[in-house]
Amino acid sequence: MEIEEIQKIADYCLHCKTKPCKKGCPLGNDITEFIEYIKVKEYKKAYYKLLDTTVLQPVCGRICPYYEQCQGSCVRGVKGEPVNIGILESFIGDMAIKENWKIERLEEKKDKKIAIVGGGPAGITASAYLARRGYNVTIYEKHNNLGGLLVHGIPDFRLPRKTVEETINKILALDVNVVLGKELGNDIDLEELAKENDAVLLAFGANISSKMGIEGENLDGVFGANELLEYENFPSLEGKRVAVIRWW
Ligand code: SF4
Repeated sequence: MEIEEIQKIADYCLHCKTKPCKKGCPLGNDITEFIEYIKVKEYKKAYYKLLDTTVLQPVCGRICPYYEQCQGSCVRGVKGEPVNIGILESFIGDMAIKENWKIERLEEKKDKKIAIVGGGPAGITASAYLARRGYNVTIYEKHNNLGGLLVHGIPDFRLPRKTVEETINKILALDVNVVLGKELGNDIDLEELAKENDAVLLAFGANISSKMGIEGENLDGVFGANELLEYENFPSLEGKRVAVIRWW
């Protein structure tokens, strides 16, 4: 998107004192203030404002259900269209990658080790904030790449792999260690991890579809989203009629 259009979107924001958009964001991103920086073209400051609460701006800006969260709470949306916060967030996140703005360490290195089991969004986010605070962090991931649901559960056209990879590389530059292809229970023992580290964070994610509790959901040909997206465990549906049920 052209920068003029970005400025136009930012200028549409009313800089509400009560910050309903921030309240609507599960992370508590200070949306009002990061947009204010965009208005005056202080993009780097906008990035560091977002960094207070998220390291996944290029990802969240693309895939968050913002129409129900921050944008869903936007005052502009009461009588018209809400501010397009998602586009502004991904714009700033993409710029941070392009300009190589670093995620700064906030505290000196500590003599403390933390193991994180699971390299999905929760694990990599935790690794970033712990590394910023000086902890020596190692992520253990069962797949041969990091990202979890971001790479195994969301198609590339919705969230480009390159964006995920570049976002993660920015976090790893904080000196986060990564052990790939190791699964807890098979290759790693929890007790040993606990002995070798000062703390262990289990960040497995939610990779089993929850059941709807309705009749017929166990019939052949009915699949949960995770089975479809993460495990690609379904027959070819080419030329077939498919019904999609949104459930939450
Ligand atoms: S609620 Fe909407 S208009 Fe108000 S500060 Fe947030 S984004 Fe801007």
